[in-house]
Amino acid sequence: MRFIETWIPATLVSTRDLAPGIREFLILPDRFDGAAYPVGSHINVSVTIDGLPETRSYSLVGEASSQGLRIAVRRAEDSRGGSRYMWQLAPGARLDITQPSSLLAVDWARDRSLPLFILGGGSNLLISDDGFDGVVVHVDLRGVTVQAEDEYAMVRVAAGEVWDDFVALAVSRGWAGVECLSGIPGSVGATPIQNVGAYGQEVSETIGLPPLRARMSGAVMRLISSCTDTLA
Ligand SMILES: Cc1cc2nc3c(=O)[nH]c(=O)nc-3n(C[C@H](O)[C@H](O)[C@H](O)COP(=O)(O)OP(=O)(O)OC[C@H]3O[C@@H](n4cnc5c(N)ncnc54)[C@H](O)[C@@H]3O)c2cc1C
Repeated sequence: MRFIETWIPATLVSTRDLAPGIREFLILPDRFDGAAYPVGSHINVSVTIDGLPETRSYSLVGEASSQGLRIAVRRAEDSRGGSRYMWQLAPGARLDITQPSSLLAVDWARDRSLPLFILGGGSNLLISDDGFDGVVVHVDLRGVTVQAEDEYAMVRVAAGEVWDDFVALAVSRGWAGVECLSGIPGSVGATPIQNVGAYGQEVSETIGLPPLRARMSGAVMRLISSCTDTLA
């Protein structure tokens, strides 16, 4: 199962400033039935950054409505360009987006007692010739947000970003801590699962502790740092 499915053309109907630096966008897909979507759903939006096509994911806000899909985008001056692109759009602009989808595939699998496998880049896997009789969730969430950059840098990176691209970004911005982990294949999301390390650096030294979601109970929890060795 992939989160990203078919791209559909859409129109930006209107924008509304919700708070300083936060703008709501109402987007109407060309063929839109107003169907309800699961809580926690997001859409991907095709954006243009430095003349090149890129993809950004945004969570849907509010209830499903026949008027279209609503997202809220924070204007991040130091972002790689996604929020800047969104903010320069005026009503009537044409966009390509994906259908709403949700991480709740995980819940769907759990409720049916189906085996679940989270797939990153697939670079560290052997798949049996017998296949996998369960739900495979390919994590393709994108986005890098610099939350602080003074004495220390604090960066929020979506699990589907390519790890090596993130290392290259860190090096280009002068952030120390992951530079020895250049050239390692795979996704950002897989690195804390395996505590990826090389040449004396391990990601456990630089990655903060994101909230985790228990597969069986669905509970969201935070680990204390001494637990990360168990994860690795
Ligand atoms: C120089 C070098 C050093 C390396 N060092 C290490 C190392 O120290 N340790 C190591 O294990 N590998 C290492 N690797 C191998 C590989 O690069 C990593 O395992 C990489 O993190 C795999 O990423 P992936 O996205 O392809 O994961 P996949 O192959 O897709 O998945 C690997 C595992 O991570 C899980 N996973 C993937 N994404 C997520 C997610 N978003 N959420 C939850 N679980 C997820 C999968 O279920 C699976 O169990 C190294 C490779 C090189 C070349």
